[in-house]
Amino acid sequence: MGIKVAKFGGSSVADAIQLRKTREIIEKDSERNYIIVSAPGKRYSGDNKITDLLYLCKTHVEHNLPWEQLFDVVVDRFVAVEHKLGIEGHLDKYLKEIKANLVSGCSADYIASRGEYLNAILVAKYLGYDFVDTQGLILFDDRGRLMMDETDKALASELVKHERAVLPGFYGSTASSGDVKTFSRGGSDITGSLVARAIKAQVYENWTDVSGFLMADPRIVENPKPIHSISYKELRELSYMGASVLHEDAIYPARIADIPINIRNTNAPDDEGTYITAHHDPDSTAVVTGIAGSKDFTVIAIYKNMMSTGRGFVRRLLTILEDFDVNFEHLPSGIDTLSVVVSTASIEGVLDEVLEAISAQLEPDHVEVIHDVALIATVGQGMTRKPGVSAKLFTALADAEVNIRMIDQGSSEMNIIVGVENQDFEKAIKSIYKAFE
Ligand code: ASP
Repeated sequence: MGIKVAKFGGSSVADAIQLRKTREIIEKDSERNYIIVSAPGKRYSGDNKITDLLYLCKTHVEHNLPWEQLFDVVVDRFVAVEHKLGIEGHLDKYLKEIKANLVSGCSADYIASRGEYLNAILVAKYLGYDFVDTQGLILFDDRGRLMMDETDKALASELVKHERAVLPGFYGSTASSGDVKTFSRGGSDITGSLVARAIKAQVYENWTDVSGFLMADPRIVENPKPIHSISYKELRELSYMGASVLHEDAIYPARIADIPINIRNTNAPDDEGTYITAHHDPDSTAVVTGIAGSKDFTVIAIYKNMMSTGRGFVRRLLTILEDFDVNFEHLPSGIDTLSVVVSTASIEGVLDEVLEAISAQLEPDHVEVIHDVALIATVGQGMTRKPGVSAKLFTALADAEVNIRMIDQGSSEMNIIVGVENQDFEKAIKSIYKAFE
């Protein structure tokens, strides 16, 4: 068996109780050699994440507001954990240094990253592993873009020197200046994936507070089935439509190195969780892997006689959207019709101007705007070349008396997207789930 990389998210390292569970998980498998930690997250609903508190300290300092009490909350949380784990005083000098840097005007990225930094030092001590800082190893260019290959080389050449190590998630540094630079929120998932790639891990375990992905949102469907295995492509489609457990950018590094990602639950470590792999599970008989969706889209449907024989119609439409900085989500088309689906939030303030530009530049026969549309994606590589899937889906929606406003099936054939009215969203998901469960 090969080496495993295990990343523990904020809730898995939120306090001493969670850290004991984390250590038990790590010690149960002698191949869990490289550990990535988030900053301590929420211990209960309504609690604060350390990262949020650190950002808040920075804004207080910037606005000349009292910040010491806030910083003390951060200090107290780390000190309490140290005390409960019997490693008192280990973080003292680092906490002092961070406080001094805060006063002297450090960057927001630096201060936000200190939750992961302190936690990795603490967990390394608790496990008896080496601490390896990611500043100087995970590299960004001057425009803030991750330098994938340079990062891979830097991580690989450092990690060969450490048989077992704990690394902080969420940040690296700008290659030219050496200054700390963070990923977007939730970015420790990306660190884990980069480390897995660099050491050619057998698996990248991502430990969180749920036992992987479910076939549908449990707030809508009662007790949805867990997804045992999902391909990277299917996951991409589902996350795009709102299913979220893992940071989107965490998939790519593992994917190019062909390393499976296993989502696991720190609070239920015996659950197998979900495996995210390059290929669709050949043993799976499921036609549909998952159903996800989100509300609040707007559809602009454009009708023009002989549209299909004209040139440049789509390009001109997309240029109008680009000019108004509106991102399009889907572009279902017919012979003489073309619809564009956009998020309501992105078009709200400019809808009238966009419609005016469409009338003036495209001279359509008719334009219709459909508001309050929800999109639902039914995803599964098992549906490729399988007859009857759409029929089953549309029958389920018809039986539930859901009015379908739009249909889009990607040519990958592993995804059928329907647009329904916002108010029918939950009913539609329930009926699709029931048809394919
Ligand atoms: N601590 C960071 C956040 O709260 C990064 C992470 O946990 O992945 O977003």
